[in-house]
Amino acid sequence: MSRIAYVDGRYVPHLHAQVAMEDRGYQFADGMYEYLTFFNRKVINPDLHFDRFERSMRELEIPQPMPREALRMVMMELIARNGYTDGGIYIQVTRGVARRNHPFPKAPKPVLTLGIYPSKTPAPAAYEHGVKVISHRDIRWKRPDIKSISLLGNIIAKQEAVKVGVAEAWLVNDAGEVTECSHSNCHIVDSKGRLITHPADQQILGGITRTTLLRLARELQIEVIERPYTLEEAKNAAEAFNTSVTANVLPVVQIDDAVIGTGKPGPVSKRLLEAMLEDIYQQTGKIIPTKTEAKAAA
Ligand code: PMP
Repeated sequence: MSRIAYVDGRYVPHLHAQVAMEDRGYQFADGMYEYLTFFNRKVINPDLHFDRFERSMRELEIPQPMPREALRMVMMELIARNGYTDGGIYIQVTRGVARRNHPFPKAPKPVLTLGIYPSKTPAPAAYEHGVKVISHRDIRWKRPDIKSISLLGNIIAKQEAVKVGVAEAWLVNDAGEVTECSHSNCHIVDSKGRLITHPADQQILGGITRTTLLRLARELQIEVIERPYTLEEAKNAAEAFNTSVTANVLPVVQIDDAVIGTGKPGPVSKRLLEAMLEDIYQQTGKIIPTKTEAKAAA
């Protein structure tokens, strides 16, 4: 059975979900998106996502296609129609269809689309052993805090990671500082066990998982320092990890040729991962396995 998508007011088979060639999302990447995850049909932190979604629309001056509560209903209807228990929901809004011309159209009619995807939680081995990453120049536009669909700088960096067979690309700005990753936020832990992370300013996307991470760290009395750090500092850190709604807290054990700490996921990363998975369990009742034995037993 084909998945069902939502396109501009209609539920349609995913394979036939189409938008117009003159949609400004297609012509100019003039739009924005959100990606939410759900387990046991319960969406994780929906209101944090809706807050970010509405902020992106305000920043881009794209009119909201429908109120938050209506969007929540469409999202839940899509989960129900697809019969998915666990998965991801992709929501996109563009400035809509208009003759190709740079200025914003006078009366834009935003186009809203939603798609559903199977759950993509990394394999348990990735959590158990950690992953390798490369560094890559941050060549993105200067407002990555807006969750825009213009992702060329992100996909180019990710493709370099794929070419060398690693999980992510840590992006480095012209000052030599790590901003974030191609599709996740990144963080380090210093030798005193302090969590250091780039501030949520205009240089990074304020990840929903990052927000939860900082709350959990404070609850665990892990000191949090929001400041830029260089790639050099990251390579010499005691621990490193990535966060996103898909990966939760994913330990990083190597950046380029530099082994991080002991080369194994460190204690602070592990505590934060456990706390994150507990938070997901509290919201959804889902237990996410992080050990290869757990997978073998399943
Ligand atoms: N930064 C970028 C560039 C991303 O694409 C993502 C994933 N959407 C994140 C950070 C992490 O955000 P979140 O925790 O909301 O998934």
